[in-house]
Amino acid sequence: KPRVFSGIQPTSDSFHLGNYLGALRQWVAMQDTTDALYCVVDQHAITVDHDPKVLHERSRVSAAQLLALGLDPERCTLFVQSQVPEHTMLAWILGSETGFGEASRMTQFKDKSAKQERTTVGLFTYPILMAADILLYRTDQVPVGEDQRQHLELTRDLAIRFNGTFGETFTVPEPYIVKETATIKDLAEPEKKMSKSSTSPRGCLYLLDEPNQMRKKIKSAVTDSEAEVRFDPERKPGVSNLMNIYTALGNTTVEKLEAEYAGRGYGDFKGDLADVVADTLGPVALRTKEILADKAELDRILTMGAEKARHLASRTIAKTYKKIGFYPPV
Ligand code: ATP
Ligand code: MG
Repeated sequence: KPRVFSGIQPTSDSFHLGNYLGALRQWVAMQDTTDALYCVVDQHAITVDHDPKVLHERSRVSAAQLLALGLDPERCTLFVQSQVPEHTMLAWILGSETGFGEASRMTQFKDKSAKQERTTVGLFTYPILMAADILLYRTDQVPVGEDQRQHLELTRDLAIRFNGTFGETFTVPEPYIVKETATIKDLAEPEKKMSKSSTSPRGCLYLLDEPNQMRKKIKSAVTDSEAEVRFDPERKPGVSNLMNIYTALGNTTVEKLEAEYAGRGYGDFKGDLADVVADTLGPVALRTKEILADKAELDRILTMGAEKARHLASRTIAKTYKKIGFYPPV
């Protein structure tokens, strides 16, 4: 079975529809066909402003949401990044193999640092820690959204370069990106991607929103001054985004939607989509609440996951330390 690794940041109280369609849905599906590790990457989350208490709680809620969406600790390894120190150990080594210019080309850093009052070195080296996350587990495939493609490319370059310089050490991973849902747009500003940290609350559909809140956000999504349900991401980004969401959740196609809503305007279309979204995602909040209620069980699942992950990660660290000329960890 191919090895899969992916991570998500605990940077808000709830994941959103973009996280779900771009990544988490694939995570759930890949549990059975691959050997999958999934990580709440709290070390990435401290690269932007954060509050320690809030961060800790968000890590718990994040893990609970992942379980609520269908991750099964018997069929995948679910853990929190800070419980596995090998991630930062490898990140240091990879950072010393990364060119400053190479790291400076990362567009996510440019976007995010422009929005922060204070830009940290951690935000700059974020893609290197991400490369470590992936390479530690000899990962074959990384299910992510389009915004992570450049970081994946850097990860591949680092793996190939390290292998060339020090001898075969890392598996070179492939991104696994589902084209149709690779970038879900902000509902209020459809030129931008939906994001946990930088979207207006109105434009971001959270998985833990009340069903009526979800309906409201879909119905008030920005479209255009025409009244034609037609797929044209360039000229009709708002409508096309809603059509992508509909086809992904509603088991239909763009062609069928265009035919079904021909001559009917946006009202019916949005109303029906609002129901599909609320029906599909509505139950997630309740399930998350149930999982959070049993604190001991959630802690047990995460400890078990971290132990499994560490077992694999420590082997890669031992090998890498040897290749680089370090003393072995004791
Ligand atoms: P932040 O704003 O804190 O970076 P985020 O919404 O970008 O939050 P991440 O934790 O960085 O979420 O990413 C988790 C996963 O969700 C990644 O695989 C990322 O590619 C994917 N993802 C994030 N936003 C979208 C989106 N709008 N459409 C599709 N996939 C997305
Ligand atoms: Mg992000």
